[in-house]
Amino acid sequence: MKNTQSKRTISVHAGSAGDPQYGGIVNPIYPASAYNYDTEVLYPRYYNTPNQKATVEKISALENAEDGLMFSSGMAAIMTSMFALLKAGDHIIFQNDLYGGTHHAALTELNRYGIEYDMVDAADPANFEQAIRKETKLIYIETPSNPLLKITDIAAVAKIAKKHKLITMIDNTFASPVNQNPIDLGIDVVTHSGTKYIGGHSDLVCGVMVSSKKLTAKIKASAQHFGGSLDANTSYMVERSLKTIVLRVQQQNKNAMVLARFLENEPAIGKVNYPGLKNHPGHSIAKKQMKGGFGGMLSFELKGNPDAFLKRLKLIKKAVSLGGVETTISSPMETSHAKLTPAERATLGISDKLLRLSVGIEEAEDLMRDIRQAL
Ligand SMILES: *Cc1c(COP(=O)(O)O)cnc(C)c1O
Repeated sequence: MKNTQSKRTISVHAGSAGDPQYGGIVNPIYPASAYNYDTEVLYPRYYNTPNQKATVEKISALENAEDGLMFSSGMAAIMTSMFALLKAGDHIIFQNDLYGGTHHAALTELNRYGIEYDMVDAADPANFEQAIRKETKLIYIETPSNPLLKITDIAAVAKIAKKHKLITMIDNTFASPVNQNPIDLGIDVVTHSGTKYIGGHSDLVCGVMVSSKKLTAKIKASAQHFGGSLDANTSYMVERSLKTIVLRVQQQNKNAMVLARFLENEPAIGKVNYPGLKNHPGHSIAKKQMKGGFGGMLSFELKGNPDAFLKRLKLIKKAVSLGGVETTISSPMETSHAKLTPAERATLGISDKLLRLSVGIEEAEDLMRDIRQAL
């Protein structure tokens, strides 16, 4: 349901009803795994306990979704949603720039359950339409993509899917609910690795799916069997983190823009991938669909030796994962895309000299100084 309040207000108040027993102004944590069953059976693995529901309410409001589920990881959210919506004999069309974990899961899991798939270049949405077969059930996209920050035209893909009565799924992790709301653009199921911007402090793991009431109910029915639910304490931490998500992501958007422009002008740096740059091939589509900003993720190719550069950084930490308040850097070849063969990486355009930066909320000038001294 469309909430007319601003996202900053929603992020603070949606789902945060407070404590009716003592009048506390934040939600209590309800750790119970056993509830009286007179009216409704509450159970953490049924995705219906108070802290799970409060957190889902906040994310649903931020994403303009009717309902959703909290999972114990982003992969649990993605794979549970996918398996819940599909059966043996079905066919999926993925875009070919995917989070490494999703790419590897598709490669190793789907065929043995009888699910076929194709991966297409998302630069031209017509490629999705061309790959449709009579068995096709689902189109799956991810934009901006990891690690090249490629942009997929969400509304164009949703339109093709609707025409052919296919379900659409998007991994909205990189954009966060602050910058991009795919349901407004016609997408059916939105997933997040809540480990990233939703958690935002590099200290928790969770996943989220949001959608219509109807599709959420369908996914929930299978999710109860797969069992990847999130506990009350982490659900509460996620709810708390979400109260500042708009402030954090707005600062990350600003810092990433400053850093992208700075890196572009550094002679020791080759190509810079950031959708906010005018020369990015997806810039005009990004401008249309990323209403809140271009995000805190960027990547670039270093002309020199990446290992030596990474060792010399002091403030910016070498680390996997992303979306935290602290700026981190990683080499996709060694981390997110390590499971791909060099040939597969080359096909995707991921060079050994590519570095991915997750820009935090620090002062941009301090980050630039660190990069300058390391170069
Ligand atoms: C991290 C990530 C995932 C997986 O999430 P986990 O919480 O690690 O399971 C999925 N998609 C994207 C884009 C990610 O960055």
